[in-house]
Amino acid sequence: MASIFTMIVEGKIPSYKIAEDDNYYAFLDINPLAKGHTLVIPKKEVDYIFDLDDETYLGLGAFAKKVAVAIKKAIPCQRVGVAVLGMEVPHTHIHLVPLQSENDLNFKNKKLNLSQEEFTTIASQISAAL
Ligand code: AMP
Repeated sequence: MASIFTMIVEGKIPSYKIAEDDNYYAFLDINPLAKGHTLVIPKKEVDYIFDLDDETYLGLGAFAKKVAVAIKKAIPCQRVGVAVLGMEVPHTHIHLVPLQSENDLNFKNKKLNLSQEEFTTIASQISAAL
């Protein structure tokens, strides 16, 4: 069965899309640690990031960098933190999280409860900064 993120890429499940090309897709995390918390994925469905072929792995990093630069422009933050966990969804994804302090990248923190309007606004602000 396709992963939930493949269903997002295929448009079968909605997402707050930030960016897309032939091989990669970026969208807002639905349970964000901070406003602008974004997930970047390869469209190719591979569970563990270090099982990706080199070309896809390197392309994912380059795509994530573009998105991170846009997040930094659009969302007030000191820098954008990067994390890879994959404990929940078995489809490689990079978390990009706007940080004000080290503690903002603690996944045990309470997640933000944002409205649809807030998610839509944040996604369009980041997209516009690409
Ligand atoms: P992990 O696999 O541990 O890196 O966590 C998976 C992440 O995906 C969590 O931060 C979830 O909030 C996020 N997530 C799960 N389902 C969705 C979805 N449908 N849209 C956006 N983010 C999601």
